[in-house]
Amino acid sequence: MREVRVRFAPSPTGPLHIGGVRTALYNYLFAKKNGGKFILRIEDTDQGRFVPGAEQYIVESLTWSGITFDEGVHLGGPYAPYRQSDRKEIYHQYARQLLENGTAYYAFDTPAELDALRKEYELRKETFQYGPQTRNGLKNSLTLPDLEVNKSLENGEHYVIRVKIPDNETIKVQDLIRGEVSVDSSLLDDKVLYKSDGMPTYHLANVVDDYLMKISHVIRGEEWLPSAPLHVLLYRYFGWEKEMPEFAHLPLLLKPDGNGKLSKRDGDRLGFPVFPLRWTDPKTGEVSSGYRESGYLPEAFINMLAFLGWNPGTEQELFSIDELISNFSIERVSKSGAKFDLEKAHWYNHQYLSKKSPAELATFLIPILEEKKIEVCTEYVEQVCALIHNRAVLIPDLWTQSHFFFIEPESYDGKVISKIWKTETPTLLAEYIPVLESIEPFTKENIELQTKEFVQAKGIGMGQLMNPFRLTVVGTNAGPGMMDMAAVIGKEYIIPRIRKGIENILV
Ligand code: GLU
Repeated sequence: MREVRVRFAPSPTGPLHIGGVRTALYNYLFAKKNGGKFILRIEDTDQGRFVPGAEQYIVESLTWSGITFDEGVHLGGPYAPYRQSDRKEIYHQYARQLLENGTAYYAFDTPAELDALRKEYELRKETFQYGPQTRNGLKNSLTLPDLEVNKSLENGEHYVIRVKIPDNETIKVQDLIRGEVSVDSSLLDDKVLYKSDGMPTYHLANVVDDYLMKISHVIRGEEWLPSAPLHVLLYRYFGWEKEMPEFAHLPLLLKPDGNGKLSKRDGDRLGFPVFPLRWTDPKTGEVSSGYRESGYLPEAFINMLAFLGWNPGTEQELFSIDELISNFSIERVSKSGAKFDLEKAHWYNHQYLSKKSPAELATFLIPILEEKKIEVCTEYVEQVCALIHNRAVLIPDLWTQSHFFFIEPESYDGKVISKIWKTETPTLLAEYIPVLESIEPFTKENIELQTKEFVQAKGIGMGQLMNPFRLTVVGTNAGPGMMDMAAVIGKEYIIPRIRKGIENILV
């Protein structure tokens, strides 16, 4: 079998969409599964759409996600350079090759002339296509005398090089996901391959680079399926049919309701990020949220993305990256679009967070505490994390689930007060304070023992004491086990909280 070499080839026209990360992920899994190489190539031939910072964003996003490359723009490699604008000189000779073998031609029509034609066709409710039906009546090297063509070129007139699409031919694309896809060539137009500013278009650069970089499989989004027949044709025109990669077009990522493609604009509008990392638009300053900053773990993000369009054919849903590699196959990628599911994204993150050790969770909580200027020792944070380890869905929840371990309540939940705070409660708590004071060491077991004795002697239920106790410590009726919590927070902080509660909680 041919050496597996796949590439992720984003255009730096803005932040990377999660659909792009999924494309990169499937390529990565495919490469690793087959002992192949994975390449990061930047396709920046459309200078008009270039966005500063986008390339760095792409690299940083993939690095955060844990997707690694063997060669690429950030790593170099045997087929460098991996940025198309740095490969500019390469493409001209290939465009010339097609001119010489008669499968491409120069066209000199100005944008204004083509616009006028388009309008004319629209009026007749037709669509203008530069192609077999029209090219013979237009200004190009097929219709103009050689002398005139040469003069125009010598004079530096603006031109483009167009591919010559065959008339009335069925072009077949073998797709690993969709099977055979046939397209009637009359639906294609003579796409521009090269422009007189010295830049190739996407189609030419993409095919030439895939060939030169010995790409074995092109795995990319479904939006590129309509371009595939042209690419197949270009391989034929270049005489590279034997080296042509196999194609696999991935299903679209859909909005949660299944109505249409999940677009870059959808994210914050629908209440979840569509970008891996936060992105600030360099032109407008507009900020879009990212998975990383929203508190997702990269392992959870990747596991969730893997399942948007692929399934292992078993019930298992949690897959480490190594398990994804060994289970991945293109055959199990679905043909139909995959709906984004926020609940599932939360579920995955919760699963991965719950599996983290207290020490690992502490590394997430400590920066939040530092930001809030709360100074505590790591050991304490780890003890807290041990008690809340399965309560957080996203990293910021570690704080919402634990703030009462670090700061005393500033107010008390009115609803809880009216339910549990009775006239006798302040006296009861006041009598409980000396009991707590006497406990030495202040461990969960000792607190439990002494508290049980206290409520028994009082002839009351545990809840009658514990509920108001919790209210003074937490401010509401939330949090982990009260005895665990008391032991971790410690006597010297717990007792003042009870006193403060007695003073401030009024029915
Ligand atoms: N540059 C294209 C993109 O931005 C790559 C398409 C392909 O993988 O061929 O998605």
